[in-house]
Amino acid sequence: MPTESAYQICINPACRKTYSVDEVLSGCTQCGNLLDIAYDWNKLPVPKSLREFEARWSSRSNPLDYSGVWRFRELMRFAADDQIVTIGEGQTQLRATASVAKYVGVKDQNLLLQYEGLNPSGSFKDNGMTAASTHARMVGAKMTACASTGNTSASLAIYGSATGLFDVVVFVGSGKIAFGKLSQALDYGSKTLQIEGDFDDALKQVRDVCKAEKIYLCNSVNPFRLEGQKSIMFRVLEGLGWDVPDWIVAPGGNLGNSSAFGKAFSELKELGLISRIPRLAVINAAGANTLNQLYGQQGIRWNGGYTDDAKIDGFFDVMDRENRRASTLATAIEINRPVNLKKCLRALDVCNGVVREVSDQAILDAKAKIGAGGFGCEPASAASVAGARLLREEGIIAPSDRVVCILTGHQLKDPNATVGYHSSLPHRIDPKLASMGIQSASFANGPVPVPNNLERILEVLRELG
Ligand SMILES: *Cc1c(COP(=O)(O)O)cnc(C)c1O
Ligand SMILES: [Zn+2]
Repeated sequence: MPTESAYQICINPACRKTYSVDEVLSGCTQCGNLLDIAYDWNKLPVPKSLREFEARWSSRSNPLDYSGVWRFRELMRFAADDQIVTIGEGQTQLRATASVAKYVGVKDQNLLLQYEGLNPSGSFKDNGMTAASTHARMVGAKMTACASTGNTSASLAIYGSATGLFDVVVFVGSGKIAFGKLSQALDYGSKTLQIEGDFDDALKQVRDVCKAEKIYLCNSVNPFRLEGQKSIMFRVLEGLGWDVPDWIVAPGGNLGNSSAFGKAFSELKELGLISRIPRLAVINAAGANTLNQLYGQQGIRWNGGYTDDAKIDGFFDVMDRENRRASTLATAIEINRPVNLKKCLRALDVCNGVVREVSDQAILDAKAKIGAGGFGCEPASAASVAGARLLREEGIIAPSDRVVCILTGHQLKDPNATVGYHSSLPHRIDPKLASMGIQSASFANGPVPVPNNLERILEVLRELG
């Protein structure tokens, strides 16, 4: 049963058609734009202060309070408590990391890493999937599906198997899915279809399949997912004692996360729960830089919702005609057509945001620094730190700014990238990485071969210092 004070609404200001939260939609039926979940806040019991949520830390035996998403359920109240599907997602930590601060170029305590790798399936996607699963349950879905570069499928697969509420079919591309992620979908028992093509091809197919077979679609066009992802920002604030940082830096793929962050902050501001909004930096991989092209080069802006759609469509037409396809080692953000583009433009507007792109080289170097700083992440996550470093170099981020980088996924998702980097030598880069343009591994910490002999081992240890 849905709550009466929540509804779906088209993001297009010229349309604003509304729908009940009972309806299963992946876009506005009138104009085709994305949908938001909106609330009649004055009909909802919203806390007077964010500190009120702290009381829930003492009732962690209640699954809704234990969840790092539903602990904030008053701020995403589209479902009644007894409908909520949770498997303990949203366990994270926020930690200042001096060595990474030094690498980025800000003061020791000012670089904070928000680690989303502690989620049940090892990425931030669980924050959203718990909400999509809740909605799937509300509407009685028996089968759910998604297309994925890997983490969305791992996340949906675990919600299907852990709850038994619905069957799961996932569509992945045939190319570069990281083995950690593929192994999860298989192990959690979801039907796994490997489409000949990339993520964008898989998404197009799954949308048609869901329409034809009335299967519940869990990609980030699903507005319920983004509601859950707002909680990442609530926990960042919580980790800072409810202070607002100066910057949030996140990798950008389909742009669901950045969209959710912007929505979180504009709602908190509207509710008077924060007094200012941090700046948002969305970081593309250079090999998958649609947002940076549109925002940076073409000057596309939210513009009160009146986006220049002809220019955006023209950009994609050229992309298709020239057969330009995204290609990056950061496979989680290897996206051609970010589905949440417009919502992200809105978030950039709300948060006085910036967009940048970073090379795969910069991503892998940053990833090694993050690892040495005590947080293991996958390549896409490290784009945040590489991006913060770039913005610091440009003088956009100041050394005294407090910067939160979102580490979106766990290190073990993609061990090949990690081992490839660390096994590389100055004159011999791992062939797979070299084929993707990696030319150096400045922070490599490779395994040292030693004979099975105590004296030689001791000698080698001494040499290593
Ligand atoms: C999905 C994903 C991203 C990209 O997030 P979007 O919301 O699609 O922009 C980044 N990093 C990781 C690890 C992911 O799984
Ligand atoms: Zn509409």
